Amino acid sequence: MRIILLGAPGSGKGTVAETLRSAYGFPKISTGDLLREAVREKTPLGLVAASQMGKGGLVDDVTVLALLRERLAKGDCRGGYVLDGYPRTIAQAESLDALGLPGPEIVFDLQVSDEVVLERLANRRTCPKCEAIYHLINKPPKTAGVCDVCGTALVQRNDDTPEVIKERLRTYHAKTEPLVARYAAKGHFHRIDGGAAAGTVVRDVRRTLDAALGLAARAGK
Ligand code: ADP
Repeated sequence: MRIILLGAPGSGKGTVAETLRSAYGFPKISTGDLLREAVREKTPLGLVAASQMGKGGLVDDVTVLALLRERLAKGDCRGGYVLDGYPRTIAQAESLDALGLPGPEIVFDLQVSDEVVLERLANRRTCPKCEAIYHLINKPPKTAGVCDVCGTALVQRNDDTPEVIKERLRTYHAKTEPLVARYAAKGHFHRIDGGAAAGTVVRDVRRTLDAALGLAARAGK
């Protein structure tokens, strides 16, 4: 099962992907995480990506597709995976289709208003090591400023500043939102109220996914 998460920055894709990883064992493939890792390691690709990411634009399709293909080739993806942050443009969706990957596909669109995004990202803190996500008010770490999972000092992502957030939202509306109509027309597409509490969002996604997994299992027999 290929699970695609669509939604604006801050819509909760990372949180849902992490839950699906821990509850079902589907690896979470976040192109944002893969790019940040390349930036941290100062690979040639990371050096190119850093400038676009810092400005709130998109990294070029060829670079992101190369990273994605490398990740999908790993053995843990055989039983299914969650795509968080890919595709982000119509061209990326076409590239994904062109890969001809096996297995059924299900798409969730996490819908949130721009106001919710601005509030969430201003309060977001992340772990630079394991990419765990916190919210200063709704999901604070147990010890202030420290990751619950690995003990690393939390940071505010350098693209979670008001100016860059606004640019990321502009990029989302111009380039990514058109994907909603594309996937809605394709079927296996579900709208989720991403503005609800995290527990509610996760419950809604899991209910739909459980039904789809049941159907897929029956079809396989
Ligand atoms: P968010 O969804 O909150 O914007 P991500 O971690 O998914 O955060 O992405 C961070 C940045 O990485 C994006 O603003 C963009 O510059 C880059 N990026 C991530 N995924 C893609 C992609 N599929 N195509 C192009 N750029 C991407």
